[in-house]
Amino acid sequence: MTTSSASLRVNATEITLVRGDITRQEVDAIVNAANSGLMGGGGVDGAIHRAGGPAILEECKGIREQQGKCPSGEAVITGGGKLKARFVVHAVGPIWRGGSGNEDETLASAYRRSLTIASESGAKTLAFPSISTGAYGFPVDRAAKIAVDTAHRFCLESTSLSEIRFVLFDEHTYNCFKSALERVRNPA
Ligand code: ADP
Repeated sequence: MTTSSASLRVNATEITLVRGDITRQEVDAIVNAANSGLMGGGGVDGAIHRAGGPAILEECKGIREQQGKCPSGEAVITGGGKLKARFVVHAVGPIWRGGSGNEDETLASAYRRSLTIASESGAKTLAFPSISTGAYGFPVDRAAKIAVDTAHRFCLESTSLSEIRFVLFDEHTYNCFKSALERVRNPA
């Protein structure tokens, strides 16, 4: 795998892009692209539960019993189990249905809630995968703009995080995020 990376400083926060596996990141919190049931699944969700061990799923079950399903656009936080990260933020992105069902706003909300919940828990460094662009089918270029814009806006409003890292699994996703970051750096 190539070790591409890019970054942009916004106030107190470095927004960084790397290609890689989110389960291996040495950050305070990683974000899971979870589903509403919080019971694990495929893709990044499966990888996080495999790497983190059963304690994370146990905690998700407790949350589920207390507050029911986690709606799209929302997030909940658990410990990180065996991961290097202390916390996992389980964010539920929208399923792409053609774009007329508030998918853009729901995706932005999933990112924003994750940023807020992680910083409220004391995390200083946070890593995201590309939420909703795998099994949930959200177009990657469109999702990348929303992800980067939401992170950028958060950094303008809050100095609580020192790094927001996007960990992109494949080259196409990485390139879409890189273009989105360039647009924030040099607005047309
Ligand atoms: P969703 O259901 O929200 O679409 P997926 O897990 O299917 O979530 O995919 C989201 C993105 O995460 C995709 O770009 C996928 O390639 C990527 N991905 C899968 N495994 C990992 C991993 N271990 N680390 C980082 N990204 C991953």
